[in-house]
Amino acid sequence: MSEREYKFRVAIAGCGIGGLALAAFINSFTQERHGDRIAIDIYEAKPEVSTIGAGVAIWKRSWRVLQDLGFEEEIVKRGFKVPKDGESRGPIFRKSDQPTEGFDFHDHMMPYGPLGLHRPTFLDILRSKLPADCNIHTSKRLEKYTTSGKGSEVHLVFTDGSVATADILVGADGIHSATRASLFALMGEGYQQYIQPTFSGTIAYRGSFPKAKLAEAFPNHRALEHPKLWCGKNMHVVSHPLGPSIGMICYCSEPDVEGKPFYGTLITDVATEDVVKRFANWEPDLRPLIEGVETYNAWAIHVVNPLPCYVSGSVVLIGDAAHAMTPHQGVGGGQAIEDAHILARLLSHPVTRKENITGVLKIFEDLRLAPTQGAAERSRTNGMMYEFNHPDFLFNDPCHPDEPSREELEALGDAVGLSFGWLADGNVEEDWAEAEAKLKNIAESEA
Ligand SMILES: Cc1cc2nc3c(=O)[nH]c(=O)nc-3n(C[C@H](O)[C@H](O)[C@H](O)COP(=O)(O)OP(=O)(O)OC[C@H]3O[C@@H](n4cnc5c(N)ncnc54)[C@H](O)[C@@H]3O)c2cc1C
Repeated sequence: MSEREYKFRVAIAGCGIGGLALAAFINSFTQERHGDRIAIDIYEAKPEVSTIGAGVAIWKRSWRVLQDLGFEEEIVKRGFKVPKDGESRGPIFRKSDQPTEGFDFHDHMMPYGPLGLHRPTFLDILRSKLPADCNIHTSKRLEKYTTSGKGSEVHLVFTDGSVATADILVGADGIHSATRASLFALMGEGYQQYIQPTFSGTIAYRGSFPKAKLAEAFPNHRALEHPKLWCGKNMHVVSHPLGPSIGMICYCSEPDVEGKPFYGTLITDVATEDVVKRFANWEPDLRPLIEGVETYNAWAIHVVNPLPCYVSGSVVLIGDAAHAMTPHQGVGGGQAIEDAHILARLLSHPVTRKENITGVLKIFEDLRLAPTQGAAERSRTNGMMYEFNHPDFLFNDPCHPDEPSREELEALGDAVGLSFGWLADGNVEEDWAEAEAKLKNIAESEA
């Protein structure tokens, strides 16, 4: 197809969940509308689309997007159990920061459980839905962009010295986004603090091991059947049975260093004994889980502080580039999917043209800035609850030096339950109705 046959050219920096979902959804919406084709080029820094990663939970709102776009059949075909309406069991919360046996304090029942997907498989499914003429350029790390050319054209500069142009640049390049860095650098003084992500104060030690190994040594172990949250002061552990494996994430926080510079390595391997030492005084049942993992991957969890905007001219940020958050509600990927859904639908709409693109992208920003930043804040406060550092549930602290009572922990459990309520509320179609009304205003003002 020649360039003239496309209504515009979209460059997507980053081939993760957000970038791939956007390209796949644009394909679905343009086909559905028999609309004008959109040229899509995805530029990925790594030599290949990521094949690493563990599970990712997708909640009702975001799952609905995938369902509406016809992903269910493929997801079922790949062996994943899709969530059904009706109450389902979430993780069981347990007090564990004691050398004697801990106790369960919250059995998290949810109106609608999440879909647990294997991340590389999900990326593969998204990839299978790309339009045939979508180009994925690997080993292309965006260094910066400029807009000094003719019209609204965006000039992309890559670290290998090569360049490309597009009508729209979507920064889906994750937490350390070069698109975000360029966007706020170009906005000048007063915006520099939005360029770099900041340290959350938490290190996440991630790993997994075969379920059979645990079942053999401890046939009735409480982690075999259900996801568990093992809670305690400044630390918590998530154990999650996923297929034949038990996934483990051990979080260790220093609330005082939240927002301070982090000088270590962002992601590094850590010996199991180092993680075992950190949880040495925790309850005995946790020990075989922590010891079960052969090598941990330590992630210094960073976040993107609330940005004042996601759009400048014909450049837009989505996913972690716009709102990387702590993982304590497991919604960062889902938010990237919802961003991609609204943006794809806006771009594919017949009203949207090169000439009105900034106004259309502003509709995306109007709709997505507050909800995504709200999700990030809820995720942060959930982490504080799991680690007894939330102002309403501050235990083992100078102002509450004693161990929390069972009643206090049950109240904390209720608060955690409420904090997940929004994930079953609302509907992406309502968001779209609002977006479409705003598009209509643009069309009317142009008429
Ligand atoms: C421990 C942990 C557990 C989590 N669990 C969940 C969960 O259960 N559910 C959930 O919804 N979310 C979860 N998340 C969050 C989720 O992983 C992210 O929010 C999601 O991956 C964001 O997708 P993205 O496409 O925006 O960014 P990414 O997945 O980070 O993708 C960005 C892509 O851009 C590429 N890139 C980077 N820089 C450049 C550049 N300069 N040029 C070109 N390409 C570039 C990268 O290589 C990468 O492929 C979790 C996160 C963590 C850390």
